[in-house]
Amino acid sequence: KVVLFWFRRDLRLEDNRGLQMALASGYPVLPIFIFDSDILSRLENRYDRRVDYIHQALHAMSKTLQMYGSTIQTYSGVPLDTIKMICQQYDVQGLYCNHDYEPQAIKRDHAVQQDLQEIGIPFYSSKDQVIFEKSEIVKADGSPYTVYTPYAKKWKSLLQVEHYSQGTVSLENIHKTAFQPIMSLETLGFQKTDLVFEQPQLAISIIKNYGEKRDFPALDHTTRLGIALRFGTISVRKCVNFALKNNETWLSELIWREFFMQILYHYPHVVTASFKSKYDSIEWRNNEVEFERWCSGKTGYPIVDAGMRQLNETGFMHNRVRMITASFLCKHLLIDWRWGEAYFAQKLLDYDLAANNGNWQWVAGSGCDAAPYFRIFNPTAQTLKFDEDLVYVKTWNPDYAKLLEAPIVGHEFARARALKAYQSALQDK
Ligand code: FAD
Repeated sequence: KVVLFWFRRDLRLEDNRGLQMALASGYPVLPIFIFDSDILSRLENRYDRRVDYIHQALHAMSKTLQMYGSTIQTYSGVPLDTIKMICQQYDVQGLYCNHDYEPQAIKRDHAVQQDLQEIGIPFYSSKDQVIFEKSEIVKADGSPYTVYTPYAKKWKSLLQVEHYSQGTVSLENIHKTAFQPIMSLETLGFQKTDLVFEQPQLAISIIKNYGEKRDFPALDHTTRLGIALRFGTISVRKCVNFALKNNETWLSELIWREFFMQILYHYPHVVTASFKSKYDSIEWRNNEVEFERWCSGKTGYPIVDAGMRQLNETGFMHNRVRMITASFLCKHLLIDWRWGEAYFAQKLLDYDLAANNGNWQWVAGSGCDAAPYFRIFNPTAQTLKFDEDLVYVKTWNPDYAKLLEAPIVGHEFARARALKAYQSALQDK
């Protein structure tokens, strides 16, 4: 007899709520991971650092589990079918996992739960990847917040020590089994990349003066924990503990993360449509050649091109530059935010549906609590303010001077064109 613990966005052994529950069940815990063939088949590039990241994170956990005579069983396939198959091989007394709030994941988990119910196997899911979930932070009338500042205020006012205290995981109750290697990347149809997985660390040197330095891309003074939070190789409770002790500004970023997660949970239509529906009447120009120039960092705007090149080369782009490049696409080029969102989704190591969608809609003006549509970032002014000596630009776009002479569009012209397109979509609606 065993219970299953199904790893998903929580690839760590420490402070893992669902795993703790499973270990407390009294049955040996069989840890499993399923490479979801539906998700993997949608990835265009076979050289994908995120798949490699998952792979290496599984390896790291498996190494620790080996000390307890155990291992993670890895599978590839459709989760529903795979779990049914495992239940035929083992005498399964329950399946444990952690909540996932993306619409597709909710659907998947619901289907698994129903199927297991039919064969008498209980499904237990825990809150793990956020401090507050679903409707835990709502207005007095029970409706969700759609504006960040009051959401964050309520979040802070409700926070108690038990929300962020970290649990201890004792692995004694793990199912003992002969060692099995993690399924190889090649078997999954992927290539090994240049990514080197390291256990995520909270660096005091970055957090201490995060507020003063985080907006300057050349300083590279942010934690780079996005990917760890995305795949759960770090616990959010650990991060919140650290933020509370060391930096309120950084705590606000973690709250932004939860804000967008609850937006996605309550308003799943945002995946394909604008949060504010009237923004879907904007007549986007959607010029494919211009889109291609934006993607490859050849717009003639040095900061935009530097950002896109950093993204293409490394899978990371600094937050300030994400805002500038995204705004440039939606406003200067009048290209639908969904095109840019999809491109970022392909490239970002820390890609997360809630954060990516929420931020793109924020920039486009179509989202909840968004930047007002008439605030159009001037890339040159932004450069003077945040990269005055062009250190960031020169790092990622050393030949910027060549393209500078032939910008894709003039700023004043583009600004007026964007205002007109937005105004005509929004008037009288
Ligand atoms: P830090 O500055 O150290 O912040 C710590 C953590 O807080 C981040 O890792 C992230 O988990 C969270 N966070 C910070 N800012 C935000 C924010 N604005 N919204 C939500 N969470 C935030 N973030 C993603 O995690 N995934 C995405 O796919 C993503 N797409 C974005 C797209 C656009 C157009 C923009 C403008 C921003 C996007 N962000 C996204 C938010 C932000 O840019 C990144 O979280 C941040 O740059 C990651 O760097 P870091 O890990 O060093 O973050």
